[in-house]
Amino acid sequence: MFGEGILKGLAETARNFLGSYVSKKRLTTVQYPEQRLPQIEAYRNFPFLVYDGDDWQQGLRCVSCFICEKECPPKCIIIEKSTDKKPDAVGKLQFYPKVFNIDVSVCMSCQICVEVCPFDAIKMDTDFELSSTDRFSGLLWDKKHLAKSNEHYHKIHPTEAAAVDAQLAAERAKIAAKTKATAEAKPATPTPPANANGAGPNAANQPVPTATEK
Ligand code: SF4
Ligand code: SF4
Repeated sequence: MFGEGILKGLAETARNFLGSYVSKKRLTTVQYPEQRLPQIEAYRNFPFLVYDGDDWQQGLRCVSCFICEKECPPKCIIIEKSTDKKPDAVGKLQFYPKVFNIDVSVCMSCQICVEVCPFDAIKMDTDFELSSTDRFSGLLWDKKHLAKSNEHYHKIHPTEAAAVDAQLAAERAKIAAKTKATAEAKPATPTPPANANGAGPNAANQPVPTATEK
């Protein structure tokens, strides 16, 4: 029947409107900001940079590889790579972003930067109370603003963060095992053979005894 869908929609709206006076289940709004609805785990807004440990500068996982900057559709990521290396959270020397900015007034929350990052260094945040009176610098976030701890990541996306931690731990264990195996496979420094007189390895450096000494 023509218009059946519209009538069904209006009936559902009326049912919810009138039902909300008698049933809390039909009351889908809350008194924000005093009351807040729980966020679902898959909710996402803008990206943030994950760091491990307590020091956000040293613990940043980002190694400034530029992949996210290249892949970001509206080109709102700006990275400047360091010229030196510094130890990351596990002590490995890495390049780091000297500058890492995201213009969130341009970002469209597509999550492509997260998908392409090979280091699990950038993830999507859930914060939505971001209004600013400064249209320009207020929405251009630098790396200090973007840096958030792995604990924060666990708080907002616990399932995903646990899977990432497990994967990173497995990768680190694999690297450690490989390093150990390489060190063990290296031949030990050979001991020079003893000479014909049965003297030790340093015999060649010893002065030859004179006839009177014999
Ligand atoms: S966030 Fe990831 S993809 Fe982007 S520069 Fe850093 S390491 Fe590379
Ligand atoms: S979420 Fe999308 S638009 Fe925003 S910074 Fe990442 S890639 Fe760019």
